[in-house]
Amino acid sequence: MSRPSQDHEFVPPHRLLMGPGPSMVHSRVLHALSQPLLGHLDPQFLGLMDEIQALLRSTFRTENEFTIALPGTGSAGMEAVIANLIEPGDRAIVGINGVFGSRLATMIERSGGIPLRLEAPWGNTISLDALQDQLSRSGPVKAVVLVHAETSTGAWQPLEGVGALCRAHNALLIVDTVTSLGGIPVEVDAWGIDACYSGTQKCLSCPPGLAPLTISPRAMEAVRQRRNPCHSWYLDLSLIAEYWNDRSRAYHHTAPISMLYGLHEALRLVHEEGLAPRFARHQLNSNALLAGLEPLGLIPLPSEGHRLPMLNCVTLPSPIDDVSVRTRLLQDYAIEIGGGLGPLRGKVWRIGLMGDSCRQEHVLTLLNALEEIFAQNGWLEQPGRAVQAAVETYSHSQLSARRRA
Ligand SMILES: *Cc1c(COP(=O)(O)O)cnc(C)c1O
Repeated sequence: MSRPSQDHEFVPPHRLLMGPGPSMVHSRVLHALSQPLLGHLDPQFLGLMDEIQALLRSTFRTENEFTIALPGTGSAGMEAVIANLIEPGDRAIVGINGVFGSRLATMIERSGGIPLRLEAPWGNTISLDALQDQLSRSGPVKAVVLVHAETSTGAWQPLEGVGALCRAHNALLIVDTVTSLGGIPVEVDAWGIDACYSGTQKCLSCPPGLAPLTISPRAMEAVRQRRNPCHSWYLDLSLIAEYWNDRSRAYHHTAPISMLYGLHEALRLVHEEGLAPRFARHQLNSNALLAGLEPLGLIPLPSEGHRLPMLNCVTLPSPIDDVSVRTRLLQDYAIEIGGGLGPLRGKVWRIGLMGDSCRQEHVLTLLNALEEIFAQNGWLEQPGRAVQAAVETYSHSQLSARRRA
């Protein structure tokens, strides 16, 4: 039995987090997390909540009044949206092309709803045609549910046109943006999304613990018109709205004060950088990483045009041993990358370039480490080509930026 270690504090080792989340957290966010507490009804704290709402609206690109950060990780956001919008007997079309679509279907069932599974092979996306087809075949549905960034496969789900289709069929559009928010464009209002949740620990680069969430007026109407109260008291959005949005600021739960300090600073960092430059940074580092992985035989799973820049899912060629390489990366290089989930276990790696993890020096450090490990195992004849390919990608982009200037 290990002895209790009450005599020393826990000091985590340094790690370069390049997996599917959590991502690296900026020192300004860590500092914010360590500030003294305020009461959760203190006027200064209520002011901070207002600022967080404004920052979240501009991150989600929405005017929705109900735009908040829910306690709990991304899955709490998922659970809140499903528990409030899906009532017993409601049918909802769910796009399933990876782990998170399946999780959504399970949650719909547990809310008493009926998931209509619209499946695509892992690594693929759900096509607008397939959705249109399903909508016209299935009769009235309460909602269409899609995962914008499927973290288990690295597939980037296009959303243009989906909102209009949903409105034409009088269905709500629910979108999971846990991995996409802060890394690729998310346009809640322009795309007609009715309920959109995210997480703090991926491209927002804040520790896990909050779920940013925005609900359109028509979805809020559906929450208020429920036949029966939401079965979850804690996640009941009509009660939570009274704390975040009503002038009464009615006590519901004690807000996670420190986490909200952290999120406020993380969102300030997002807006200091600017959304467009931030998305461009994610794309450039992903391009460089993929260019470097190619000479190592690591090929992206999703097809070109459907690859998420913040979650690079690449297939392993046959001699490469998944677990031994990832163990060496962690032990000898202090780098964490992700393995495959479910049917992709042992077959792919998931390399995250999320938020603060998404930097040129991290890409080059990882490629260099992989080249060393591959060469030592005799899997690589000519080390150096991976790093070189990435460096070339960066210098081409500098050249073209100079040409544009
Ligand atoms: C990570 C993730 C979640 C769940 O978030 P947790 O913070 O792990 O609860 C949900 N959906 C997607 C697409 C994710 O990547």
